[in-house]
Amino acid sequence: MSCPEGTICAFVVTFDFDAEEVWIAEDPANASRPCVLSQGLYGARVGVPLVLEMLDSLGVRATFFVPGRVAERHSARVRQILAAGHEMGLHGHTHRSPADMGRDEEQKELRLSLRTLRHLGADPVGYRSPSWDFSPCTLDLLQGAGLLYSSNYMDDVRPYRHPGRSIVELPVHWSLDDAPHFWFDAASWDRSIATPSAVREIWQAEFEGIRSLGGVCVLTLHPQICARPGRLAMVREFLQSAVECSDVWVASAREVAEHADEVLPRNGEGGRGRGWPSRLE
Ligand SMILES: [Zn+2]
Repeated sequence: MSCPEGTICAFVVTFDFDAEEVWIAEDPANASRPCVLSQGLYGARVGVPLVLEMLDSLGVRATFFVPGRVAERHSARVRQILAAGHEMGLHGHTHRSPADMGRDEEQKELRLSLRTLRHLGADPVGYRSPSWDFSPCTLDLLQGAGLLYSSNYMDDVRPYRHPGRSIVELPVHWSLDDAPHFWFDAASWDRSIATPSAVREIWQAEFEGIRSLGGVCVLTLHPQICARPGRLAMVREFLQSAVECSDVWVASAREVAEHADEVLPRNGEGGRGRGWPSRLE
């Protein structure tokens, strides 16, 4: 997959389809609290269909990172996402952070999640940690599993290759995530929910900044958060604004990672920028 001529920035729309697993990972006792879990069930029941309709109307191919246990519980939804032509990546088997696991447990999670998604017809080549956090073993395990890319680090705005490995990184940032802006903490009530217009302003500024630098803008959304009725219109308008930019390549994470893999050096020392059509050079 090559970057279309004339484009200077890539734009990737990703969804972490967490459903109930976020709350179960926070506290296993939540597994028997249906009202708590219903916050995530909204994503599977209402959020994903609305998101698929939006993506179809915009002609955007997105990437869905799905925990294995969510794929087991909501297999019909996962098949629907795949049938719509979207990419599916790994997001743990449970939604627990790999930083809290030993190597054996982390490897088991990786294998289980791969097996579960493949069983449903997906061909995952990318990984997003449930916490945007790695253990000291994570990169080794991803490399060992033959994965193409990770989308977890915050140390650049351009794709790069992890030093000494073949894994390509598609960098993320909290500002381009819906959760930090909209997440309500029912335990503490110490957070206020942002307005859609305030979040649009933050996303637009970050996108324009990345575009001016010639990087990759990775938007991280959650169906249970972004597909609330009061927010989805803003999300649609934001995606539409990116689609209408003739110098922006809107593509799945896999497509951008495959392009980065082609153009980034393979010298064993990683690679930042060189080969990527960057204005930072
Ligand atoms: Zn998640």
